[in-house]
Amino acid sequence: MFQPVNSRTSFPQLEEKILGLWRSKNVFARSVEARRDGCRFVLYEGPPTANGSPGIHHVLARVFKDVIPRYKTMKGYYAPRIAGWDTHGLPVELEVEKALGLTSKRDIEDFGIDKFNARCRESVFSYLKQWEAITERIAFWVDLDRAYVTMNNDYIETVWWAIKQMWDKGLIYQGYKVTPHCPRCGTSLSSHEVALGYQDDTEDPSVYIKFRIIKGLPEGLSKDKPSYFLAWTTTPWTLPGNTALAVAPDAEYSVLEGEEDYLVLASALVGVVGLEGYRVKEKLAGSQLVGAEYEPLFNPHEFGVERRRMGLELKVQEPVKDLTYRVIGADFVSLDEGTGIVHMAPAYGEVDYEAGVEHGLDFVHTVDLQGIVTGSYPFSGKFVKEADPLVLVELEKKNLLFRREKIRHTYPFCWRCDTPLLYYAKQTWYIRTTAVKDELIARNDEINWYPEHIKYGRFGDWLQNNVDWAFSRERYWGTPLPVWQCESCGNYECLGGVRELEEKPGFSGFKEPLDLHRPFVDELTFDCPKCKGKMRRVSEVIDCWFDSGAMPIAQHHYPYENKSLFKDGRFPADYISEAVDQTRGWFYSLHAIAALLFNRRCFSNVICLGHVLDARGEKMSKAKGNVVEPWAVINKYGADALRWYFFTSTAAGNVYRFDESMVAELSRRFLSTLWNVYSFFVTYANIDRFTPGGEEISVELSELDRWIISELNQLIVDVDNGLDGYNPTEAGRRVEGFVDDLSNWYVRRSRRRFWKSESDADKLAAYNTLYECLATLSKLLAPFIPFLAEEMYQNLVCSVFTGAPDSVHLADFPVADEAKIDKQLGDDIRLAMKVSSLGRAARSQAGIKVRQPLAKALVKLQSGKEGEALKRVAAQILEEINVKGVESVGGDVELDKPGYEVVSEGSYSVAIATEISPGLQAEGVAREVVRRLQTMRRSAGFDIADHITTYYQGEAYIGKVMADFADYIKQETLSRELVEGVPGEGVFTESHKLSGYEISLGVKRLA
Ligand SMILES: [Zn+2]
Ligand SMILES: [Zn+2]
Repeated sequence: MFQPVNSRTSFPQLEEKILGLWRSKNVFARSVEARRDGCRFVLYEGPPTANGSPGIHHVLARVFKDVIPRYKTMKGYYAPRIAGWDTHGLPVELEVEKALGLTSKRDIEDFGIDKFNARCRESVFSYLKQWEAITERIAFWVDLDRAYVTMNNDYIETVWWAIKQMWDKGLIYQGYKVTPHCPRCGTSLSSHEVALGYQDDTEDPSVYIKFRIIKGLPEGLSKDKPSYFLAWTTTPWTLPGNTALAVAPDAEYSVLEGEEDYLVLASALVGVVGLEGYRVKEKLAGSQLVGAEYEPLFNPHEFGVERRRMGLELKVQEPVKDLTYRVIGADFVSLDEGTGIVHMAPAYGEVDYEAGVEHGLDFVHTVDLQGIVTGSYPFSGKFVKEADPLVLVELEKKNLLFRREKIRHTYPFCWRCDTPLLYYAKQTWYIRTTAVKDELIARNDEINWYPEHIKYGRFGDWLQNNVDWAFSRERYWGTPLPVWQCESCGNYECLGGVRELEEKPGFSGFKEPLDLHRPFVDELTFDCPKCKGKMRRVSEVIDCWFDSGAMPIAQHHYPYENKSLFKDGRFPADYISEAVDQTRGWFYSLHAIAALLFNRRCFSNVICLGHVLDARGEKMSKAKGNVVEPWAVINKYGADALRWYFFTSTAAGNVYRFDESMVAELSRRFLSTLWNVYSFFVTYANIDRFTPGGEEISVELSELDRWIISELNQLIVDVDNGLDGYNPTEAGRRVEGFVDDLSNWYVRRSRRRFWKSESDADKLAAYNTLYECLATLSKLLAPFIPFLAEEMYQNLVCSVFTGAPDSVHLADFPVADEAKIDKQLGDDIRLAMKVSSLGRAARSQAGIKVRQPLAKALVKLQSGKEGEALKRVAAQILEEINVKGVESVGGDVELDKPGYEVVSEGSYSVAIATEISPGLQAEGVAREVVRRLQTMRRSAGFDIADHITTYYQGEAYIGKVMADFADYIKQETLSRELVEGVPGEGVFTESHKLSGYEISLGVKRLA
């Protein structure tokens, strides 16, 4: 006997019960250990930060990380999965700053770096319990007890080792470069971090500025009015830093004359800019403008700002009263926007900086690292974006503002704190990733991406356009950059381990216990080998993306321990999965570090997930109040429903428009359908005391049985292919199709085989078949919906076969018996389904109930071959659409004729004859009687197997129908007798009107 199954069940409750089972039987650990002799299958867990509560997008990534290793385990692979936590970096610091009410780096230093970092360390795991709870609840099987933690000393030591390897290869350098800088966080961002924070539709000023020409304008222009170069910018705050204008030497420029002045700009842009009241006075080549001199908008010396000359170093220049700057020729000048004359501020743009070095321009830096304007300008002390309009006011006063407008464009913001990024020239440590660009590209060739277009699209482009990795951060809570510098002679040394540091001559400053974080590491000094000066660590920490990218080795404290990890299959990973933004984040840092250190790929397969948006396609945010709380969804529908939604609702790379009603819909359409079939099976199997696996297994199978078994084996092949190809969506949808066929064709068409009272071979065949389908499904579905699969397996398999593995997750994945796949039979039944569905549609179009038998159906098919198939499945079609005959007709026969109702789809048409003869009508009434009696049996609370006596009363026509169809009615309703007359005591009665005839019915259970 199987455990009785309620047709209505609460999936969330059922799942809680299964969680208890897994815990008590230690199933996860055993499932891994049982495969210890198998091939390794390695998942790298991209470490989340546990200082915030897990969101719905984390659930998405986690269930995708789960499904493939579960499958591989069932296929015999040894797949330990280790959790990890990302603990460093700005996100953590920002939370602590907020909690402490600190708003700047100065505040932090006043508070004390040691205390600040202690708070960071505490906050890192403030949501650990929540993370662990949801990880367990969604059945993401990962070893949380042995999780790697990026702030541990061993982890940091490996990261140091990695940096040292790069240092020794000459891949680390310090550059004075313009970098994207977050003025709030006070640190540079790497290009992949910048890529995380672009915001479309940012409003900025769009202004045209006049630069007064002093020298170099063509002869012959009257000197009665001033002449200006017209330039364009969207960042007015950079204008005080202007030290040059650039033109395209080959382009044509126009001098335009207006009432009060002359303006110079590129001829191609005159029309775009729109200069009413001006007319072209002269045209000349850009090369003729090179060398011309103009007056700065703001002479830095008048505002207490230094002016430096660019070259190998920045030399401070003496104050000059009548300062002029000059026009340079450059190949980056665009003639698509602006004026063809580019405002250059070498302190604030990458291109500007390079041109400054090349041309020996002046370098004027008027903004500090917090983004505040320095000096004594009228707008000094303001944040740059607030200074923008004030700068324009000043220019307007000087009559140098030609026009101001607004522009909406894409602008980068800090991905953590949403502050607009500023491009700043400053010193930063770089990893020379461009030196291994070919390697990065070549290793990507070896990676299997899903979806495929990411490989040479988003990720490939990123590699093609590789820039060096600016990986130092002027912050506190991070892996310290292991570089020491001599106070006296400036000599640098990079250290790759604790022992190496301790063994340095003159090593001092060490205090127990060892903590490799700031400020303790900053205390560690040693003697300079060159001059005996003191070596002190530089102040920077490193990008936390480097930490997580080093996880393949750092979690194992390589090479100080686990030296074998390159030989024993722990590197590279077989599989990783995260959201698509990680192409520039973790996917990239893993890939880059592996290429830099080992010339190897870091992962072989990756599922790159789409983002989770709200139902309307908008980004979820607390401010908008549209954040989906994962617990709410899980508590309502269960984790399986959520998992199934993520696996099958759309292809993995697409955006998820998360709609709770979709989870409900999929749960109803798939999980409930499956549950109903399972519950149906158990109910009848228990009535008939069916036991699977007896000698009766050899019974002859019907065609219907052979068909579903054929479909089942095809399904195993398809699910295997889907999961092997890292496409759970395809695999899941195939299962969905199968369960639909199983429920709506196999079980529905087999109902009377289970229903009938005698236990013959045919009934046994039906039980065996349905049992095989459900038991196999439990294993096929185990990687996807581990709870429901376990429930079915426990009841269907464990309760019967004592020797079977005691969890579905310890079982082997089903193996297809391809000999049982009958393609032709599959096609035949598909045709029967198609014709039946069109036939039903035709009936409904004609308004005739399915229970009313009709004379015949005419069918138009695609090919003559299908005509043969139609003959083979005609019996099923007759039953399905309740007609007495079905015939196929040629393509030239007109079906749309009087007495017929036609429905077509593609090249298929089905026409049903709509005339109802008296004989057909009587049969229709008999069927209605059966249906009413069946409903009454249920209403009366009878068991499905109870035999009854049926009473009826009505006019003569009813009496005749009851007599003519007595055998049929008895059989269908388990009635021993049909008794005409008034029912006595204890009889359940109802009255109905069938085809216009009154009838009273009564049912009574027999003892
Ligand atoms: Zn920031
Ligand atoms: Zn020295």
